[in-house]
Amino acid sequence: MSWPEVKEALNTVELALIPVGSNEQHGPNIAESSDIALATAGARNLARRLFPRAILASSFPFGISYHHVRFPGTITLRPETFTAVLHDVVSSLKQHGIGKFFILNGHGGNMASLGVAVWQIQQGLGVKIAHALHWPSQEMVDKYQRSPQVGHACEIETSLAMHLAPSIAKTEALAKGEMLEPTFTGGMGGGLTGIVEPQYFDQVTANGAVGDATYASAEAGEAMAQEIEDRLTAFLEDFLKD
Ligand SMILES: [Zn+2]
Repeated sequence: MSWPEVKEALNTVELALIPVGSNEQHGPNIAESSDIALATAGARNLARRLFPRAILASSFPFGISYHHVRFPGTITLRPETFTAVLHDVVSSLKQHGIGKFFILNGHGGNMASLGVAVWQIQQGLGVKIAHALHWPSQEMVDKYQRSPQVGHACEIETSLAMHLAPSIAKTEALAKGEMLEPTFTGGMGGGLTGIVEPQYFDQVTANGAVGDATYASAEAGEAMAQEIEDRLTAFLEDFLKD
């Protein structure tokens, strides 16, 4: 958009949608840009549904990806950088008169830092802010999961890519995750034990993928993307009320 277009849009806009992702390995199955590509596509669809009350902000392409850095191509921010840049993005948009913000996050490894960032932003800038992971409900995951573990470059994420951003799906190269450990917790917390020992992804899976992306399909991706958008639109309709 040009600035006159933004100026015009601001007459009705109450909410900025900010897609946040990461630049990290996704096995042989999907591109390093997957998390920001999916978050951006999802946020664009939310912006369409909430038009003219919402505006899509520029994508925030990097995240917290220490656990993937031992694979070629991964880029990680430090949490301090991540939270500082996000704060400055919201601060800038607030100066244009926007008071509500929704961060659509494509990367599970950002959750801890986002939790801190939204508190800093809410307290420091006095805006209304929320964030959510661009990931289907457990019910939908149960429906389409075909392997014991999913969560990264798996049948779920690859299906979402085939529907939302087909150019990033390497359909000729799809491969099952080569699991080295029965469980992975890298960057995701320690589950019920509360114990967290950081794991690099190459300690968990030899090819960087989890699950089995050979089961992925655009049809499954469409159904899951729809569920995510329905659920988040319902939340945002409520979020916009006061
Ligand atoms: Zn991903």
